[in-house]
Amino acid sequence: MQERTLLRMSIAVAVAAIVMKTGAWWVTGSVGLLSDAMESSVNLASALFSLAMVTIAARPADDDHPFGHTKAEYFASGFEGLLIAGAALAIGWAAAQRFMNPQPLQGLGLGLALVVASSAMNGALAWKMMAEVRRTGSVVLEADARHLYSDVWTSAGVVVGLIGVQLTGWLWLDPAVALLVAANIIRAGARVVWGSVEGLMDKAVEPEVQARIDRTLARFAEPQIRFDDMVTRRAGSRRFLDMHMHVPAGWTLGRAAALRGEVEQALMTEVDGLRASIQLLPSNLEARFNAVESTSP
Ligand SMILES: [Zn+2]
Repeated sequence: MQERTLLRMSIAVAVAAIVMKTGAWWVTGSVGLLSDAMESSVNLASALFSLAMVTIAARPADDDHPFGHTKAEYFASGFEGLLIAGAALAIGWAAAQRFMNPQPLQGLGLGLALVVASSAMNGALAWKMMAEVRRTGSVVLEADARHLYSDVWTSAGVVVGLIGVQLTGWLWLDPAVALLVAANIIRAGARVVWGSVEGLMDKAVEPEVQARIDRTLARFAEPQIRFDDMVTRRAGSRRFLDMHMHVPAGWTLGRAAALRGEVEQALMTEVDGLRASIQLLPSNLEARFNAVESTSP
C-alpha cells in the first residue's frame, strides 16, 4: 500500500480515536482519559504534518527555490511541537484541578471499552505500517507507526490506572496517570522542536552519511589529488556537500573536470538525495571564502 494512502488512513484513525477517547472522558469524567484523547490529537497533528512533508518534499526545485522545498518540513514540525506542548499544559492544568478537587469516576465499563477499541485500531494500523516500512524503508511511515505504538502504551497505562482506581478507591491515581502522560507528551514535543531547530540551523550530515562520503572519496585517493575544506548540511531529506579538489597545476582543465564529474557522480550515487559541488583548484593554491593564498607546493 502507498505511503500517502497509509498516512491518510492514519489521519482518519486519529480523528476516530479523538472522538472515542473524548467520549470515554465525557462518560467517566477521568482526566487520565482526557490526557489520552489529547495525545491522540498529537498523533493527528503529526500525521497531517507527515502527509504535508511527503507532498512538499516531492515538489521539484523551481526558479524561486533552486535548492528545493525540503526545509518546509522544519516549519511544520516546529508548529507541531508547539501544539504538543499546548496539549501537555492543558492536561497538567486539568490534573492539578482534579488533585485539589477529587471526583468519583462513572461509567467505567463503557469508557474502558471505547479506549480499548480505539487502541486496537491504532495497533492494527501501526502493524500494517511497519509491514510497509520493512518493504520500502520509509522513515516517515516508521516515525508515524512508532508514534501509534506509543499511543497504545499510553492508553494501556491509563486503563491500568483506572482499574486501579476501581479496585482501591484511590481517586488521586487518575490525575497521577494524567500527569505521567503529560510528561511523556512534553518529551515527544521537545524532541520534535529540537529536530526542527537543528534542521533550520544547517546541521552537518549524520555520521553514517559522512562515513559513506569518506569511503567514496577514498576510492579516488591518489598522491597528487587532495580533497579538503569539506562542509556538509542537511535540509529535510536532502543533503548538501561543498569541498575542494586539488589537482596538479599542469593538468588540462578537461582532464580535471572529467575527474571532478566522476567524483561528484560517485558521491551522489552512494548517498541518496545528495547534491555535491566540488571546486577545482591546483595543488599549490588554497581558496577560503574570498581569500586566495599560495601554499608551498
Ligand atoms: Zn582546499
